[in-house]
Amino acid sequence: MTQRDRVLSRHLTSDGVVVWSRCSCGRLRMDLVPAAGGARLGAGPCPHRDGGQASSVSS
Ligand SMILES: [Zn+2]
Repeated sequence: MTQRDRVLSRHLTSDGVVVWSRCSCGRLRMDLVPAAGGARLGAGPCPHRDGGQASSVSS
């Protein structure tokens, strides 16, 4: 088990599943997992959001 991210809650929306989690650095993070599939979209200032397992969208 990893303690890197802790999922706080999940909410099903028309766009997909919004997942709120807390990073190991303590920041709150929101991810949208599209209902249609594909890569999840991260939001928030945390630089650790991808955990190195997926390429991030640089913006
Ligand atoms: Zn972090």
